[in-house]
Amino acid sequence: MSVAYVLEPELTWTGARFERGVRVAVGADGRIASVGAGAAPARPAIRALPRRAILPGFVNVHSHAFQRGLRGRGERFPAGRGSFWSWREAMYALVETLDAVRLHALSLQAFREMRRAGITAVGEFHYVHHDQGGGGDALDEVIIRAAAEAGIRFVLLHAYYRTGGVGAPLVGGQKRFATPSVASYWKRMDRLAAGLDPATQTLGAVAHSIRAAPIEDIVLLHEESRRRGLAFHMHVEEQRKEIEDCRARYGVAPMRLFLDRLAIDDRLTAVHCTHTDPRDAAAYVAAGGRICICPLSEANLGDGIADVPAFRAAGAAICVGTDSNARLCILEELRWLELVQRLRTESRGVIVDGDGVAARALLEIGTLAGARALGIDAGRIAPGAHADFAAVDLDATALAGVAEDELLDAIIFGAGNDVIAATCVGGRWEDAR
Ligand SMILES: [Zn+2]
Repeated sequence: MSVAYVLEPELTWTGARFERGVRVAVGADGRIASVGAGAAPARPAIRALPRRAILPGFVNVHSHAFQRGLRGRGERFPAGRGSFWSWREAMYALVETLDAVRLHALSLQAFREMRRAGITAVGEFHYVHHDQGGGGDALDEVIIRAAAEAGIRFVLLHAYYRTGGVGAPLVGGQKRFATPSVASYWKRMDRLAAGLDPATQTLGAVAHSIRAAPIEDIVLLHEESRRRGLAFHMHVEEQRKEIEDCRARYGVAPMRLFLDRLAIDDRLTAVHCTHTDPRDAAAYVAAGGRICICPLSEANLGDGIADVPAFRAAGAAICVGTDSNARLCILEELRWLELVQRLRTESRGVIVDGDGVAARALLEIGTLAGARALGIDAGRIAPGAHADFAAVDLDATALAGVAEDELLDAIIFGAGNDVIAATCVGGRWEDAR
């Protein structure tokens, strides 16, 4: 594959540290052709990036782009304390107002804001399929178009949604989410696949949750998803009520039910696991299952605190998502993954790598682990991977006075979106401000 250009950043993240003098060759196919200190090839254009440190672009595993429309709303509580369920009513009210134009505007806004936060790939857990009035799947195409316009790498996690609660019919705005049968779901997936940009867009399969699909349907969806080699995502045990409702119908908690009925492997990602029984979590992780935590959304919605240290002790691959997009800052998601555990355990350095470095462990969670959960080869600056980068401004105010060997720690624990100077998706750069 021919080389399109060669990057010469001041600092390059090579997996364990920032290094100087590293050249990153980007192929015409949008992938990284080589990484090293060798002599620059003669012909390709050199792109020097002085005062920039490049990281792998961040991977946002779990987003509902339209919920960007709730920003700043639902934060007043005149009737007393709210809950996930009162928030969900506000979200359904937003759904009632969504048409193709509004969904497009909100999604484009969310995806552009993600790029300014250094996010180069998103798993969009998409369940608002139908325009007002019910029929048609026009909104699926709308969100794909918005992602293409924002230039973000896009994994359409197309959600199956059939029930309005465990064993309950869809009501009101939920009818906009309806997928009538497993067979029609896969027909729709085939049609969607034909309309994707193969350079930046792929599909993943989703059962929204045990609230939204009977277990028999989830089993069929998951079997076909495995046959096709797709990533498979589900909301799991975010709220205690979901566990109670599942117990009432199936006799066991959702995760236990999935352990009993699904052939779990590393293509399966359970989102939240806030209230998952530690024994169920350990069995799930041992089978290869991944867990996506959404720290800011889980805090905002008052979900509770997942036992991430126990998941990691069992060997779990953890990744993160921005979920409700009430705030779009992946650096904040990553540090809150650790900070909330510090508050809970009254200790520091809970999520660390083998050398005890929290920032490195968190960076991997926000990049490589996320890419694996979405089934894409990204999240690392290495030959063959997508040329997706986040460039950090070394002259940013938040990084002033920071020693080079503590730069990543300062970025993860002390910086916000203002340090992100640019992002690159598939070799194509865009300024972040
Ligand atoms: Zn979600």
